[in-house]
Amino acid sequence: MKKLILSLLATGVAMAGEWPFVVIRHTGAINNAPEVFERLMESHRRYPGACDEFWFAGGGRKTNELIAEEAAKFAAFRPLCEKTGIRLSYQQGLTLGHGASHDGPPKPGDRIFPEDAWQVGRDGKRMHFFCPRSPAVLAFQRDFTKTILTVAKPDSYWLDDDLRMGVSKPDGCFCPRCIAAFNAKTGGSWTRETLVAKLYSEAAREPVRAAWIAFNAESLGVFAAATRQAADEIGSPCRLAYQAVWSDTIYTGYDTKPILEALSGPDRKPVGIRPGAGFYVEAEPRGMVKKCMSVAREAERCRDWGPLVASVCYEQETYPRHVLHKSPGAIMTESALAIASGCDSISLYWYAHTAPEPVEEYDRFVRTLARSRRRVRTSSGWRPRRAAPAWAAWRGLSVLRLRRRPASTCANRRTSTLRALAFP
Ligand SMILES: [Zn+2]
Repeated sequence: MKKLILSLLATGVAMAGEWPFVVIRHTGAINNAPEVFERLMESHRRYPGACDEFWFAGGGRKTNELIAEEAAKFAAFRPLCEKTGIRLSYQQGLTLGHGASHDGPPKPGDRIFPEDAWQVGRDGKRMHFFCPRSPAVLAFQRDFTKTILTVAKPDSYWLDDDLRMGVSKPDGCFCPRCIAAFNAKTGGSWTRETLVAKLYSEAAREPVRAAWIAFNAESLGVFAAATRQAADEIGSPCRLAYQAVWSDTIYTGYDTKPILEALSGPDRKPVGIRPGAGFYVEAEPRGMVKKCMSVAREAERCRDWGPLVASVCYEQETYPRHVLHKSPGAIMTESALAIASGCDSISLYWYAHTAPEPVEEYDRFVRTLARSRRRVRTSSGWRPRRAAPAWAAWRGLSVLRLRRRPASTCANRRTSTLRALAFP
């Protein structure tokens, strides 16, 4: 089993190319706690090679001045990171909006948006999320991207997974602008009322529903294209990427290709994708398998799109992290399974110093990661383009293992099952 895990991780190293192999994510709150960040970097000096890149999160409907101020704080960490060979990248943590994150009256430092910047729900009411076709939103996105790329100069720039429709988000924007664009695309004469009645009726909804799903994907592509346009206008070499969730994207589109192509831009620059969602607690190990089935599907279709996708980076969910939710060993096991599922790289561990977690736990995590990484034997020349064989091998072995040690009501028993699969 250990040999299998090590060879799978070695595969990831060989496939990473200019993209990192291991990423650790940090919340934007660390910007205001440089003394904490310095302590975290002590762990990285103590255990070098644990990761290749940091993603710092930020975002919000802010003025350019405030965005630049935050970007400067984040950029100030660069010298400390470069000493340990870690690159700095950025995650725009809010695009269309997470929950009610964009709602409410503007706060000091917020950018002011017109009423038509917001999505309209099927009932005609204003939603909490930006309309991806709003000129004001697109102008904001171009400004935001340019400011971050100019001030912080990240190596890669990731659009958060709130750039979606469906799942936990509304299933489309029914604002007059989007309805008009849908009619122009399909030759229809829908109003919000007639379209909603068709989409949610008991009668046959096709082919209108199919057209609406494809239209939503194009709408999200419009937003992604604004990001690419901003990078191109300032000549930034930054790698652009999209953080997806489940491969079953529901109303977001039939797949993520329209978003990725828009992010790739007219020059067809390779982009990255970060699939994966859920599985926050190791006490339910089958959740890990379920998640990686979805990730394997996403990775497989990304391979079919040729050079468009340069990196498939797994999302390890650990936020808000609690020590008993996932052990570092379980995180390593899940990471190996992600590589077996077709990922080229892994993004690990949301660290938030504002969460009830001492820096000593971060130190333990970095130590485990560095030890696991040292055991990776760098291989070259073997670059499988399909996940299926490795995935099938892993799946078969893990199912056998879980069958021999069935999950019980005892969390410790389940944890030991995972650790038996993990690195020593
Ligand atoms: Zn709209």
